Amino acid sequence: MSAYKNSPDNHQARKRFGQNFLHDQNIINKIIRAINPKTSQNIVEIGPGQGALSYPLLDILGQLNAVEIDRDLIQLLNQQSARYGKLIIHEGDALKFDFHQLAHANHKLRLVGNLPYNISTPLIFHLLSFLGDIEDMHFMLQKEVVQRMSAEPNTKTFGRLSVMLQWYCDVDYLFDIPANAFTPAPKVVSSLVRLRPKAEPLTVLNNPLQFSRLVNRVFQQRRKTVRNTLKNYLTEDNIQALGIAPTARPETLSLIDFAALSNAIKDDIH
Ligand code: SAM
Repeated sequence: MSAYKNSPDNHQARKRFGQNFLHDQNIINKIIRAINPKTSQNIVEIGPGQGALSYPLLDILGQLNAVEIDRDLIQLLNQQSARYGKLIIHEGDALKFDFHQLAHANHKLRLVGNLPYNISTPLIFHLLSFLGDIEDMHFMLQKEVVQRMSAEPNTKTFGRLSVMLQWYCDVDYLFDIPANAFTPAPKVVSSLVRLRPKAEPLTVLNNPLQFSRLVNRVFQQRRKTVRNTLKNYLTEDNIQALGIAPTARPETLSLIDFAALSNAIKDDIH
């Protein structure tokens, strides 16, 4: 892959927008290979920055949609992108962006991004509301966040993010990216994760909102037993009847256990 001009001399990286720009061409190539873009695919980049991923993607795709909040960068991208293809930049906050508007019937979205660390978890939750429009997502995030996303029960990192994400998506932890691949170098290691919305849920969920409240509630009180945390909603016998030990702590429960608890609770959890 050839070198791309993605280092304008005069842009000062903005901390408030979580700007850490990728500069290591080997890592960039590795990420592009993992995304495996194909012409005519509907790829949308969140936070194109100085174009480190956008230009190689554009070169392959010919056209790319991107959502960027920083106006100065948009100006630079507009000046420099034309030689690689058609970059359509949507100026705004990805946390509020309606991704549905970019999906087409036969072209679901493939989302990619080296996400700003400060908004990565809320952004992932925002994206869960567009799952029907999404084919897959490849994101660079703090390693610790990717570990939580892909964590198995009975581990320290298994929590709300693991359950919510794994309920809706297959999560693949792909590889780590060292801090020195970025300018400025962040304080932490990053990782690339691939998320693919599940075609079928593991089991029927009567009330997805209730599920999300339940998961939230039990992990807020991670050290308490399920019986204690849910005492206003389920009796010990109710919990036992689901095949779950009332004395279990939340990190020992499987995704199916969370669904069973959620389906068994009649009153709204607040
Ligand atoms: N993709 C580039 C790269 O890999 O070098 C830049 C990555 S940098 C970590 C994050 C990018 O997201 C920056 O361009 C930043 O301006 C942009 N950004 C930050 N907050 C955003 C938001 N709420 N909505 C959209 N873009 C945002």
